Amino acid sequence: MREWNDCVDLEFEQAGKRKFDLVVGADSLHSKVRSLVFGPHDRFEKRLDYMVTASETTGYRPRDDGVYVMFSDPGRMVGRVTLRDDLTLFLFVFTLDAVELGSLSDRSGHKAVLHARCGDNVWECLRTLDALEHTNDLYFDRVSQVRMPKWSRGRVALVGDAAYCVSLMVGQGSTLVITGAYVLASELKKSSGRHIDGFANYEKVLRAFIGVKQRGAERFAGAFAPKTRWRLFLRNQIINVAAIPGFARITFG
Ligand SMILES: Cc1cc2nc3c(=O)[nH]c(=O)nc-3n(C[C@H](O)[C@H](O)[C@H](O)COP(=O)(O)OP(=O)(O)OC[C@H]3O[C@@H](n4cnc5c(N)ncnc54)[C@H](O)[C@@H]3O)c2cc1C
Repeated sequence: MREWNDCVDLEFEQAGKRKFDLVVGADSLHSKVRSLVFGPHDRFEKRLDYMVTASETTGYRPRDDGVYVMFSDPGRMVGRVTLRDDLTLFLFVFTLDAVELGSLSDRSGHKAVLHARCGDNVWECLRTLDALEHTNDLYFDRVSQVRMPKWSRGRVALVGDAAYCVSLMVGQGSTLVITGAYVLASELKKSSGRHIDGFANYEKVLRAFIGVKQRGAERFAGAFAPKTRWRLFLRNQIINVAAIPGFARITFG
């Protein structure tokens, strides 16, 4: 990628060289566009002290339609949710130190880590891991956010997880990327060709809002997989109380 006064030259691995007026990177938490233009991932990654693994399989039983079923003990959470076409999605969130992890890019080690952290004979853990035995489609990553001082530089802007990943902890990342794209498009249109203004206004409209979501996710991370028995107990009591009609709306808005 090379930026000029009036355009950006891009070279694609499989589509050769092309010129563009503007480049918008919407290429996820580990954005390549971000690393090319703004610097390495580490500079913008805020780790939330957990790992996440997700995968899905067909035919798993039991199924509890419309319910997120989870098992927790200190420092880990295993959950399942039913999807269409007899699919079940499994989610594992757990603490892990760097020694246990080895390398994130060592894909062959991911299942071993998962077995070590969640493969004991409690709840449906063993059955769940058996069900995933033959899948190669395993999402495995740190739970992280992306926090950047600016979401654009020159003719390049970032949207969604690439710019401001809030993490799965708030369950709103998909909404936020669509909102971001909508605001960016609308601000670029309003700027009538002055892309610097469009990019600046996109950030002005969204930055404070995203900041609230990110701080909320950071606080909530500890409730997703509490690290001590006491915190787990407290979290469970809050979930129980939140089931009282109207309580969640009044307390959490
Ligand atoms: C386990 C898990 C559960 C989640 N659950 C929820 C949830 O319940 N609700 C919710 O709202 N959010 C959830 N999220 C968050 C949500 O998935 C993300 O916030 C959202 O997908 C971000 O959208 P995005 O478009 O920025 O990035 P992505 O959805 O990651 O899309 C980026 C796209 O860019 C492509 N790409 C990347 N690099 C390149 C490249 N070099 N060349 C070409 N293409 C490339 C990728 O293949 C991908 O298609 C969850 C996240 C995780 C990890």
